[in-house]
Amino acid sequence: MRYAVVSDIHGNLEALDAVLADVAGRADAILCLGDVVGYGADPRACIERLAERAQVITAGNHEHAVAGLLDLDWFNPYARAAAEWTRERLDDDHRSYLAALPLVAQVDDATLVHASPDHPEEWEYLVSAEDGFQAFAAFTTRLCFVGHSHVPGVWSLGSTGPTWLPGAVEVDLEHGRRYLVNVGSVGQPRDRDSRAAYALWSVEDGAVAIRRVPYDVDAARRKIVAGGLPQYLADRLAWGA
Ligand code: ZN
Repeated sequence: MRYAVVSDIHGNLEALDAVLADVAGRADAILCLGDVVGYGADPRACIERLAERAQVITAGNHEHAVAGLLDLDWFNPYARAAAEWTRERLDDDHRSYLAALPLVAQVDDATLVHASPDHPEEWEYLVSAEDGFQAFAAFTTRLCFVGHSHVPGVWSLGSTGPTWLPGAVEVDLEHGRRYLVNVGSVGQPRDRDSRAAYALWSVEDGAVAIRRVPYDVDAARRKIVAGGLPQYLADRLAWGA
C-alpha cells in the first residue's frame, strides 16, 4: 500500500489540484490531516475534492473555527478574517461535515492528527527537536503523521538514539525505530519554498518521502485578492512563508 499524506490545503485549489495530479500513479490512497479550509479562495471546492478522494480526513483548527467549535479569539487577525470569510461561503452541510471530522485517526500502523498527538484539541505546534521527541509518548503506532506548522520534517526515536531531520527529506524506515513526520503544507508552505508539500508513504518499501510540487501561485494569489481576503494572504504564498 502506498499512501499520499496531505495537510494544510487552506482553500488553495491550484495547489491541491497540482498535488492530486502528482499523486496519481504514485499512491493508492490519500490521507488528509486537516486545515482543508482557511486563508485561500476555494474552500468549497477543496472540501468537495477531498471528501471524494481522501480515505480519512482529520480535523484541523481551521475546520473547528469555521464550524464554530473553536473561539476565533484564538486566531491572529489574518486567520480570523479568513475564518469569517470562509464561514460565510460555506453552507450548513459543509459546516456540519467539517464539525464531524475526527481529531485523530489510525490507518495501518500510523496515527494521523493535525497538530500534536498529545491533546490534539490544544493545537500545539511541533517545531523544535524537543517538541517532536516529547510527542512520541502520546501515540502507540510506529508512525505518526502531523501537519499544522506548515514545515516538513521527520523525528525518530530508536535504540541508536533520537534523530531530527528538518526540511524536505526521504527516510528509509529502520526496523525498531518509530517516526513522527510533519508532511508540510499543500496550500501555504512556510519554509521559504513556495512549492506545495506532501508526503508519500510506502508501507511495502518502508519509506517516507516529502515531495514538492510547483503550482500556479499567481492564480491562487489573484483569487485571494479578488475575493476580498487580506493581500498578505496572497503575498505569503509567493514567499513560501
Ligand atoms: Zn494550517
